Amino acid sequence: MKRVSNIGYLARCPANGAQEDIAPVLDAELVFDEREIHFAGSRGEVPTAFRGLESIDAGGKMVIPGLVDCHTHLAFAGWRADEFKLKILGRSYLEIAKAGGGIASTLKKTREATFEELLARSEGFLAEMIKLGVTTVECKSGYGLNLEDELKTLRVYAELKKRQPLTIVSTVLGAHIVPPEYKERRAEYIKLLVDDLLPQVAKERLADFCDVFVEESAFSVEEARQIFKRGTELGLRPKLHADQLSNGGGAALAAEVGAISADHLEFIDDAGIEAMKAAGVIAVTLPLASLFTWQKPLNARRLIESGLPVALATDFNPGSSPSFHYPLSMMLACTLNRMTPAEVLKASTIISARAIGLDSKLGSLEKGKAADFCIIDAKDPDTWMYNFRGNACERTFKNGVLIYEA
Ligand SMILES: [Zn+2]
Repeated sequence: MKRVSNIGYLARCPANGAQEDIAPVLDAELVFDEREIHFAGSRGEVPTAFRGLESIDAGGKMVIPGLVDCHTHLAFAGWRADEFKLKILGRSYLEIAKAGGGIASTLKKTREATFEELLARSEGFLAEMIKLGVTTVECKSGYGLNLEDELKTLRVYAELKKRQPLTIVSTVLGAHIVPPEYKERRAEYIKLLVDDLLPQVAKERLADFCDVFVEESAFSVEEARQIFKRGTELGLRPKLHADQLSNGGGAALAAEVGAISADHLEFIDDAGIEAMKAAGVIAVTLPLASLFTWQKPLNARRLIESGLPVALATDFNPGSSPSFHYPLSMMLACTLNRMTPAEVLKASTIISARAIGLDSKLGSLEKGKAADFCIIDAKDPDTWMYNFRGNACERTFKNGVLIYEA
């Protein structure tokens, strides 16, 4: 057992309480081992039995739960930096797609990549994320879009679970877009997902969740319903990319199918908010994607004030969000989504853990939770987000083990 002493500001981010309730303690200590947290609170209240323990000096800095990025498309091949410039110069999505760019180019490169290549690259990304304080990552497939390459991607995530320290949760996103070769045969592609991919994923236990991109350019509400129905029968809980570019009824569908989360939601309406709230669906905001695509960001204030919990993620992918910088997305959640730093901190930890079904195990600094935490060189969350720097994370601990030190 170990203890972190001299914590200037401990943000416990408890599972209970409102979005802004991070239950801060000034002059705090944390007692933990590799299994769990034994104490998180004021220095004066540390139980006598823990007082003589070997201690790690936090230097008066802030300690927060390990960050939980609950929406990434981690395994892909190639980048699309050439398109970045074209988009700045005003080329349309269609023009870029015609020139062989867009998601089709990532699809092609990811299909060509070997399992080992995807594994090495994804592991490299995770190693960088650890330095930013991230300790749990949700990873989606969706750049294979055929049986073989979707399974290849999900097997990469299964292998990552075994060989690196972060907690990985995986999601099958066979319904990202209809792949070009099925463009005129949509129903056949959906049949492939429902009859072949999802059953195989469930059989090999390759995913925890089943995601569908519900959008005019991707899948209709009715198509999504069929996919979720089969996924649910196989034990894969629904997650959605919903209402990003238009109000397509994604939020209402998320409530109807009992989704654990609905992500994006830039165009959610009041009825959608109420439906998600009633069904207990977590809203996930992805401000990096809004920033990179120069699209309207989600007004998360409206959701929070309606009583709907909001989680945060990077949406790391080579097209709309080519950055895995989670603290950057946190700062953008403040400035673009109108969330306070305390609300954002809870969105990045315990509520994000809820969006991937891990909130009983991690995401807050409470007795019995996994000892996932980091030491941040800032006085408090307000100062951290306001005086934003490249990286303020000094040390990252996963399951009580130091995995990064600046
Ligand atoms: Zn996404």
